[in-house]
Amino acid sequence: MSARHGADGTETTHRVLVLGAGYAGMSAAVQLGARVGRRRDVQVTLVNAQELFTERLRLHMTATGQEVAGLSIPELLEGTGARFVRGWVTAVDADARTVRIDDDRVLHYDTLVYGLGGVADLSAVPGAEEYAHTLNSVEDAEVLADRLARLGSGTVVIGGSGLTGVESAAEIAERYPRLNVVLLGRREPGAAMTPKAGAYLRAALDRLGVVVRSGVEVVKVLPDAVELAGGERVPADAVLWTSGTRVSPLAAAAGLTVDERGRVVTDAALRSVSHPQVYAVGDAAAIRQGYGVMHGTCQGGMPTGVHAAVSIVRALKGKQPRPFRFGYYHTPVSLGRGDAVVQFTRPDDSPRRMHLTGRVAARYKEAVSAAPWPTYGRMKKVPASGAVWPRGGRFTRNGAVR
Ligand SMILES: Cc1cc2nc3c(=O)[nH]c(=O)nc-3n(C[C@H](O)[C@H](O)[C@H](O)COP(=O)(O)OP(=O)(O)OC[C@H]3O[C@@H](n4cnc5c(N)ncnc54)[C@H](O)[C@@H]3O)c2cc1C
Repeated sequence: MSARHGADGTETTHRVLVLGAGYAGMSAAVQLGARVGRRRDVQVTLVNAQELFTERLRLHMTATGQEVAGLSIPELLEGTGARFVRGWVTAVDADARTVRIDDDRVLHYDTLVYGLGGVADLSAVPGAEEYAHTLNSVEDAEVLADRLARLGSGTVVIGGSGLTGVESAAEIAERYPRLNVVLLGRREPGAAMTPKAGAYLRAALDRLGVVVRSGVEVVKVLPDAVELAGGERVPADAVLWTSGTRVSPLAAAAGLTVDERGRVVTDAALRSVSHPQVYAVGDAAAIRQGYGVMHGTCQGGMPTGVHAAVSIVRALKGKQPRPFRFGYYHTPVSLGRGDAVVQFTRPDDSPRRMHLTGRVAARYKEAVSAAPWPTYGRMKKVPASGAVWPRGGRFTRNGAVR
């Protein structure tokens, strides 16, 4: 990759377009802006639906009426040379190298960074689209907050016993002790942790009064209940759906190679295997490591964004990108505001013996949730500061870029 040349041989601008200002896309845009955004032959543009950064890690707090900071994306980009375009991406044409915004604007790119994230999958269960709340966006979380505040008493059912379901159940039970909170899921909450850490998590839910029913399958969401496989109905005044993830259909529609969940399949350097001028990052990408395909997290998403940016800068210099390597190191789970469990993990995300609980863990979780924004600020000044993350050691040592 190098700067484009016009018909008369003069150098023209290389246009890098970053789609999605989530944890991964912001990392890419800030890195690129800080490293090359002020160059005349490179233009970096970040596109996102909202002007305020969505702190997904805090959406369960928003959903329970707690104030979270309003973090302005254009303000953060100030001084980097990267520009911000607010809008909804409606189509990507990977052959023409264009992106359509709000169906009325077209942006051209030479290199694309695709980071549109993922949301809870409501399509798998009939009635979920119509009757269940989600934490898919700040707006959705605010709608749930409004509903919970007006309920007074009654039952809130949470579908999905993964970490988002657990964090939401604990938060709702703590903020609204008069509500019955029922957590439904196939697996026991905390099943991926060590027995001791998992037991702590379940005891905390118990203390908060959350009724946990694992080993169940929700087959239908109704206006006032959820139906389980076998026909049992669990009455519900409000339902929050946290199970499964779905990504934007835009990548598949653009003809990019995607996996069975619609995520962009990447090579070792995070480029689309079908369209190497497209990098895919964060939850929207299917990134294979030595231990398997990465699952969506902020801890892994931010490094993917930084790596894509560094690779693009290398390519602009005519150098080959390096393979991406990442190993997990923790699973922090909040259990209300004063309690949490932090399970430390091996690079393949299997649990180590060590874990934290209680107030120390709650402070750790808060530090993790608060970290991204100052990290972007530091990256603006010292881009290399963003390029520090656990590479996964022997778990990810599998050779060069394919
Ligand atoms: C309650 C909760 C708690 C969590 N806790 C943790 C945790 O403790 N640790 C952890 O590692 N992970 C956690 N996660 C998961 C983490 O939030 C995600 O893995 C992370 O947000 C993925 O980052 P991303 O940049 O890929 O996507 P996102 O953060 O989802 O960002 C995608 C961006 O793209 C924008 N977008 C999407 N489609 C379009 C479009 N068509 N046009 C324009 N813009 C668009 C969205 O508005 C958004 O700004 C949690 C998630 C939730 C919901």
